Amino acid sequence: MFKFEILHQSTQSSARVGRITTPHGVIDTPNYVPVGTNGILKAVDHTMLNQHDCQLMFCNTYHLALHPGADVIAEAGGIHKFSGRKGPIITDSGGFQVFSLAYGSVASELKSQGTKQTDNAVIKIDESGVRFRSYRDGREIHLTPESSIQLQKKIGADIIIPFDELPPFHCKAVQLKKAFARTHRWQQRSLTEHQKAVNNQAIYGVVHGGLDKQLRQKSCQLLTDMRFDGYAIGGSLGKQRSDLFDVLDYCKPSLPPESAKHLLGIADMPSISEGVKYGIDTFDSCYPTRAARHSVVFVGDEKIKLSSGKYKRDFQPIDPNCQCWTCKNSTRAFVHHLFKAHEPSALTLASIHNVQAMMDKMKRIRKQIMNNEI
Ligand SMILES: [Zn+2]
Repeated sequence: MFKFEILHQSTQSSARVGRITTPHGVIDTPNYVPVGTNGILKAVDHTMLNQHDCQLMFCNTYHLALHPGADVIAEAGGIHKFSGRKGPIITDSGGFQVFSLAYGSVASELKSQGTKQTDNAVIKIDESGVRFRSYRDGREIHLTPESSIQLQKKIGADIIIPFDELPPFHCKAVQLKKAFARTHRWQQRSLTEHQKAVNNQAIYGVVHGGLDKQLRQKSCQLLTDMRFDGYAIGGSLGKQRSDLFDVLDYCKPSLPPESAKHLLGIADMPSISEGVKYGIDTFDSCYPTRAARHSVVFVGDEKIKLSSGKYKRDFQPIDPNCQCWTCKNSTRAFVHHLFKAHEPSALTLASIHNVQAMMDKMKRIRKQIMNNEI
């Protein structure tokens, strides 16, 4: 059922316009994938999402497994029935969150220069997987390649991700190599588990290797040999944008050009504009909705902070060129007022706009690729 087709290959770069077909509908690519951690975007319901051409939503297995639990979702008939979303959904493996517990986020790690020691939430990391304690009720959970896939089977997204190991950003070459070998063993185990009951789900292999060119290319080779349905660029992507572009450059020649490619966790405008040139088809990030909840909204290629006093009497739409519900029906002054009055609707109106702004950006990019301008 899963299928990726390239509809147009740009003559300027490796950018392409394509289409992913899944059991729950199609995804025009390149596209932005908003993050709905718990099965829905924060402050925005599915009716607003469908209206805004959101063709793929990213949910987090770690959060869904801790609450309500994958069994509850399976009992409801899967994540689509449980959440009411009709369109395609992708889930991650839970690995990213678990390793963030162990090592801290890249941002906090950069601040502490890698001195942060393992959090006591993570009990043990070994060849079998990771043992950690639930932050909700303290119960011990053993997340393994097999159990991560079983959780993702119960959740039932259209696209799933194998369980992988994320070494800390500041790790020594020897540690990176060790993690590199293990993450590919874990991905093979994940794939084997998935193949026992495919259930119309596609699985993307995750390319690792940090900023090391040889390791990145070896990872592409290993995953291509395993024959995943698509590929996601993951692992450490460095601390500045040029590191990311280096990684994309290393991976580009080493992955099958006809396969769908996803960039994990990065979807800021400059990264998307450049990323599509390396043949990236989908980008997920919680940034647009998180920024909206902090009153930061996108206007063209700029951002404005609506809670600022200068918008108190600004009676134009957030973006006069935007066709979202917020821009068609309200003004900067009104949304500014809602933020100041701590109305929850402020988060909703700003989030609707930012998701629409991302979708509009992707539509423009697809058109530019069709015209061989990118
Ligand atoms: Zn708008």
